[in-house]
Amino acid sequence: MISKDEIDEALRRYDKERITIATLCSHSALQIFLGAKQEGFRTLGICKPESKKVYDSFPLASPDEYLVVDSFEEILEDEFQMELRKRNAVVIPHGSFVEYVGPKNLETGFFVPMFGNRKVLEWERDRKKEMKWLQKAGLTLPQVFEDLAEIDRLCLVKFYGAKGGRGFFLVGSGEEFKEKIAKAGRKLLNGESDDYFIQEYVLGLRYYPHYFYSPTFRRTELFGVDRRDECNIDGLYRIGATREEIQKFGSYVVTGNLPVVVRESLLNKLIDMGNKVVAASQDLFPPGIVGPFCLETICRDDLEFVTFEISARIVAGTNLYPLGSQYSCYLFEEPMSMGRRIVREIKLASEKERLEDIIY
Ligand code: AMP
Repeated sequence: MISKDEIDEALRRYDKERITIATLCSHSALQIFLGAKQEGFRTLGICKPESKKVYDSFPLASPDEYLVVDSFEEILEDEFQMELRKRNAVVIPHGSFVEYVGPKNLETGFFVPMFGNRKVLEWERDRKKEMKWLQKAGLTLPQVFEDLAEIDRLCLVKFYGAKGGRGFFLVGSGEEFKEKIAKAGRKLLNGESDDYFIQEYVLGLRYYPHYFYSPTFRRTELFGVDRRDECNIDGLYRIGATREEIQKFGSYVVTGNLPVVVRESLLNKLIDMGNKVVAASQDLFPPGIVGPFCLETICRDDLEFVTFEISARIVAGTNLYPLGSQYSCYLFEEPMSMGRRIVREIKLASEKERLEDIIY
């Protein structure tokens, strides 16, 4: 793990008047660049040649400068990282950046200052740690079945590292599980395996609240909510699919996002959940989570939110709100996207000479 001291030392050498906001040209980069410009920062896009035209197509959100790479591995090269440091770059890690560079590589081989607490990467990537965090926060979680004989309801079989839910399937019993896992060409390991796990399928509606924890204001902000559009499970109703057809053809590949609001009377619960996740993170990996995170939840008809995952960074669902969201308008008088919110925190911390509180 790159030490905090090493990053603090690099930050001390930065020219604070010339900080550059850098990120990979992908995922939520448009709102990050727009937000950085709105806050008066220089911007830098790390970019594959084929993505450049996307960012050039949107002049208000195109970075001031590009560093073009042919492969994402180049990002880890010393020379490349020194270029970033030379430009006083603070990197904003979004989902694609973390995925393409690799969370482990970021922990051990990326020595450029990044927004947020780098320790969170481990708590997000290791499923056992993730569950420990959510449990400590006292959230309601779906049941996980380790003994096939105990499967007594509809379950989702999930594969570790599956991109966009690819390969997940539904089962209603231990027998059905055995049949399907064989068909999927996976080994049956008494229902326990490092490769997959069996989770209760929670019946209800999905809400993915976005939060921002601000060390400057010492508060957790509920910033927006979205729901993911998932192909093809969200389209199967159009053919009146039966449960058998859903189980046979259903897939969960994210293709887009939809805006949603929750009943105002449910906001209390969402705010409470965000605060509890922050408090647990502060105990587990001090100083805890810094900046954006998102809970993937399902609201049941007893109005309980069941959380099945946390994303400890800016999520693509925030792309719905580049000029502010259904909740950010009650927090800030100006249009405030999540990208801009991140950069605002950098600006506030820099003014107070407390950048080391929010950068690791
Ligand atoms: P994940 O890869 O864990 O984000 O899951 C992909 C998708 O599968 C989610 O966005 C949900 O639509 C669905 N899903 C995941 N876990 C559950 C669950 N326990 N109950 C119902 N649906 C789920």
